[in-house]
Amino acid sequence: MKLKEGDFVLVDFKGKRLLKRVVKGKTLTLKGENLNLESLVGLQIPTRLGSFYLLEPTLEDLILYGFKRETQIIYPKDAFFIAYKLDLSKEKKVFEFGSGSGALTAVLSRLAGEVYSFEIRERFYKLTRENLQKFSLDKNVKLYNQDFLEANLEGISFDAGFIDVKEPWLYLDKALSSLKGGGVLGFLLPTTNQVSRLLKELNGRVCCIEVLEILLRYYKTNPERLRPEDRMVAHTGFLLFCR
Ligand code: SAM
Repeated sequence: MKLKEGDFVLVDFKGKRLLKRVVKGKTLTLKGENLNLESLVGLQIPTRLGSFYLLEPTLEDLILYGFKRETQIIYPKDAFFIAYKLDLSKEKKVFEFGSGSGALTAVLSRLAGEVYSFEIRERFYKLTRENLQKFSLDKNVKLYNQDFLEANLEGISFDAGFIDVKEPWLYLDKALSSLKGGGVLGFLLPTTNQVSRLLKELNGRVCCIEVLEILLRYYKTNPERLRPEDRMVAHTGFLLFCR
């Protein structure tokens, strides 16, 4: 890829990563190293400049280093597994709420055909819109500043849906009736109490229930001393899927 003004680059400085936009007259200083962002126009990436690596950002980079976050977000480790369990493809239509900061919306947008996303709070609706637009991830997303319960979904039948709110059991009637027969519904819940309550509420109404969590442990990459990192994100949320 040849860089143009306005493109985003991931700057990797000895493992410290920053997402930057190539803009005329802008410079970036990292530990005494000066990088003139304007001078990157026309440059082929990936490349190494002094002690920087310049890379084309992946979707994970855009979400982790480029998205503004004002809510708890669904992290890539969970989001990509969610997309797999929802069986997404470009032929599929999916709904989700609440949009929050748009982190899951970005993954759904990349992998599904059409995404309907609902956010009750105007501030977070605007945040999701801004995050998606900034990285052109909004093309197949219909974003509504609306309570999911008030959404007019008549005549639309979804292949899958995902719910990331505190009390998901309040929305089951509408969520289940918006799905095609056999469609997949998923949830993220931070605590086991919420999972128990949801299991009780789902009893007899759905099949194929699964509850799981994803533990991801990175390793230090020294080949002579290969061992896990000292710290890890121990808990994000529990995932529940059903059909
Ligand atoms: N999944 C989001 C992400 O990855 O960035 C984070 C979602 S955040 C934890 C939960 C969001 O649900 C909040 O922004 C809240 O305003 C929204 N919300 C709560 N009840 C809602 C409802 N009935 N309809 C739509 N959004 C709702």
